[in-house]
Amino acid sequence: MSDDVVIVGAGMAGVQTAVELRRQGWRGAITLLGDEPHPPYDRPPLSKAVLLGTEGTEPVDIRFDVDFDALGVELRLGVRAGSLRTEAKELVTDGGPVPYDRLVLATGAHAVALPGTAGVPGVYPLRTLDDASALRPVLAAAVPVVVVGAGWIGAEFATAARQAGCEVTVVEAADRPLAGVLPASVTAPMRGWYAEAGVRLRTGTAVAAVEPGAVLLADGSRLPAGAVVVGIGARPAGAWLAGSGVRLDPAGAVLADDRLRTSAPDVFAVGDCASFPSARYGRRLMIHHWDNAVQGPRTAAANLLGGDEPYDPVPYFWSEQFGRFVQYAGHHTAGDTMLNRGDPADPAWSVLWLRDGVLVALLAVGRPRDMAQARKLIARSAALDPARAADPALPLKETAG
Ligand code: FAD
Repeated sequence: MSDDVVIVGAGMAGVQTAVELRRQGWRGAITLLGDEPHPPYDRPPLSKAVLLGTEGTEPVDIRFDVDFDALGVELRLGVRAGSLRTEAKELVTDGGPVPYDRLVLATGAHAVALPGTAGVPGVYPLRTLDDASALRPVLAAAVPVVVVGAGWIGAEFATAARQAGCEVTVVEAADRPLAGVLPASVTAPMRGWYAEAGVRLRTGTAVAAVEPGAVLLADGSRLPAGAVVVGIGARPAGAWLAGSGVRLDPAGAVLADDRLRTSAPDVFAVGDCASFPSARYGRRLMIHHWDNAVQGPRTAAANLLGGDEPYDPVPYFWSEQFGRFVQYAGHHTAGDTMLNRGDPADPAWSVLWLRDGVLVALLAVGRPRDMAQARKLIARSAALDPARAADPALPLKETAG
């Protein structure tokens, strides 16, 4: 095998791919390109501890604990790949052409912008270290904040902003938080989390316009806003690949196969930028969570080195919001049977989903042990006794048939 591996995107998935290639014995060259100027860093703390640091003090060290020199990885920061010439096996970057023998796409995702807000001062995305750094003085000044979107990022940002002493209003176009992810009965108690933290939650109202210092809602109300934080989702960073021969799916993600290979020879894709077919769930998955950016590179590296391993993980993520540790594993659909395990009015409870008696997903609030056991049970498609599984006093693993 010729020996130049190039990885585009120096986030978790890109860095992890380099680490895995070395761990799995690759001795050839590895070049890791990233368009951000900062040494590679971890994103989850950006909507949590990082926001609460004061200027000049880093509240938490988010750099990856990887010695790129010792690993023999050429790290090229501040370099953006603009297009890909697959026939020539060459990336076109703003730092000049970069030839490759094998290429790994790990360009992640971009925050979705709120339409009509380009150039409006005081409107902030939250995706990068620079975004979080721009928000720290906003929180330190404790200005009133309007958060657009009651998803994971919106809830986490609202939590930090309240801790900083800001007045916070969260505006959500759907009728409840996390409407696209969880059923109404599961999100109902979450309204109380916002209220208890002193966050105003306005659901069923879209933003009509943002002007300097205020947000206008579709229902005619006007919210004063020293800052507007937009948390309405992320879109895979794949547009630069248009015309390259690397196929994208309708959502704009790189269309990988179940080995994380793309449609172009010797080109693989990992992390937030890709989607892949899951045999476990019988559909294509695009996962924008940390665990996928850690797991995928193991498989991609193995296959890049000549292996033939399928990638079919049990998706997993966590969120820290309003003093709660929320975790979800698996994948459920509306047709699955949902069971409560504990009372959602209590500080700790879980909800699980069974398909034909088999555990397919679990949401845990403050019950990490349920989650640890569920991840193993889901992975081995364990059937649970529904009556016993609904009893929070029984360890989940003891309810498997
Ligand atoms: P990214 O981290 O997006 O990295 C991709 C990198 O590639 C970026 O640096 C990007 O600038 C660069 N790039 C893009 N295009 C190019 C190009 N053309 N040329 C060169 N470089 C390029 N997940 C959880 O499970 N739990 C959490 O609590 C959680 N919290 C989060 C909080 C925040 C604020 C955010 C933004 C995400 C959070 N996530 C969380 C999701 C998790 O961080 C992501 O799934 C993970 O970072 C994806 O890693 P990645 O390497 O695929 O992509």
